Amino acid sequence: MTWEERWHPLREEWVIVAAHRQNRPWNGETVEREEAALPDHLPDCYLCPGSRRVSGKRNDDYTCTFVFDNDHPCVGPDAPRRLDAPPGIYRNRPATGVARVVCYSPRHNLTLAELEPEDIVSLMRAWQEQHAELGGRKEINHVLIFENKGEVVGVSNPHPHCQIYATNFVFKTIETEARVSERHLADTGRILFQDVLKAEREDGRRIIFENESAIVFLPYFARYAYEAFVAPKSSHPSIAALSEAELRDFAKALKLLLVKFDNLWRRPFPYVMPLHQAPTDGGDHRGFHFHIEFHPPLRRPNLLKYLAGPEVGGGNFLSDTSPEEKAAELREQPDVHYKQSR
Ligand SMILES: [Zn+2]
Ligand SMILES: [Zn+2]
Repeated sequence: MTWEERWHPLREEWVIVAAHRQNRPWNGETVEREEAALPDHLPDCYLCPGSRRVSGKRNDDYTCTFVFDNDHPCVGPDAPRRLDAPPGIYRNRPATGVARVVCYSPRHNLTLAELEPEDIVSLMRAWQEQHAELGGRKEINHVLIFENKGEVVGVSNPHPHCQIYATNFVFKTIETEARVSERHLADTGRILFQDVLKAEREDGRRIIFENESAIVFLPYFARYAYEAFVAPKSSHPSIAALSEAELRDFAKALKLLLVKFDNLWRRPFPYVMPLHQAPTDGGDHRGFHFHIEFHPPLRRPNLLKYLAGPEVGGGNFLSDTSPEEKAAELREQPDVHYKQSR
């Protein structure tokens, strides 16, 4: 039984871990299984090779990864530049920036978990290039790369892809991580994330996988039941700084976690997957340690973690499960994807 509050050092907030309540009866919403077999290629999928998109542009006949400007950008060069000034203390500014889509594979029916490690390395190279190109622009202060996967997080097209929002501001979570990391470095001379890794190794119960240069773990301060971090062991401000050897190790670690996620309930595992990378605002971000976070919305196969009073109303998470137990569940899962072991 775990019933305590845990400090989240990267967000500077408390997480209430109330795992003693996890078996209470539940009559809430369930999430349907999504097991329909999908074709390799779907002519009316706007992400498939050769398809015509809503903008009228046609996708390349791509064979690996494919990057294009989002046809419905939330930030973009065409955002209105002349805005009416709001009254009083209110402020506004143009929603400039760049929004892109990255297709992982020409195959409509693959997921990141099913890509071969070398294809994940190619994808990571594409992320490196995008980060370097967009982050290098003067007007871009941060490059947020993220994948939303599964209908429970609002994605109806299963074609494997992620999105890039290169913005003139720094997203809140990253701004906090960058600020506390910078302060920790100034105060202690150490990198905050390295101290997290050290504490995880001292405990050991939440580590899922390690190889020479990459590590996968559920953090002590996890807010979601299956929240997991994938990180290089060396500190780099962004993915762009990873060496070839680090990319290969990282791809293996990422793949292994995703396979275990899918094997857990023998179904595609939904998640929100942001890359946490330092701002590209010209600041000193030597204390920042690039990593990927997974925020899976399900606590059980058909049970959503609702964000309600504590999370939305108060801004702090209440977790009904202990990360130690969930890490043990994941470690027990086979390393081969269930679709390949049938
Ligand atoms: Zn497709
Ligand atoms: Zn982070």
